[in-house]
Amino acid sequence: MNALPRVGLGIDLHRLVPDRPCILAGIAIPSAVGPAGHSDGDAVLHAACDAVLGAAGLDDLGTLFSDRDPANAGRASSEFCLEALRRVRAAGMRVASMDVVVETERPKLLPHRLQMRQSLAHLFGIAIDRVNVKGKTGEGLDAIGQGQALRATVVVLLVERSDSPGD
Ligand code: MG
Repeated sequence: MNALPRVGLGIDLHRLVPDRPCILAGIAIPSAVGPAGHSDGDAVLHAACDAVLGAAGLDDLGTLFSDRDPANAGRASSEFCLEALRRVRAAGMRVASMDVVVETERPKLLPHRLQMRQSLAHLFGIAIDRVNVKGKTGEGLDAIGQGQALRATVVVLLVERSDSPGD
């Protein structure tokens, strides 16, 4: 591959509904509402996968794992990450860093940031100091501000794999 690093961007929005587990970045967060979805609704992991796949020039998440395929119903999005990472590695690249913004009114993410970072670091094979997670509110505006939806935006940097351990 070309040795220049590659930047990828992923964005995902999910409706927030009552009585639905709130899984974000692979972590179960106590909440009265959770993201609706065909899979577990983990918008952070969906955006992260799209960022990683996009940077590598590969098919996006919706193409790899259709939300019309019954096999993907209720599926843990961590499985999507494993497949995305496998494809990125097969293409000769690895994730060097990841930055995540989650826009939501609820639940509050600050108490869960560290755990979310740990989970993302584990899933994408990078050190925790190469992953960040920030929570933002919608200031009472639009669907996010009114608590009807949340949106995750993820930027990643991919670099060429070396043969060193851990790559
Ligand atoms: Mg999604």
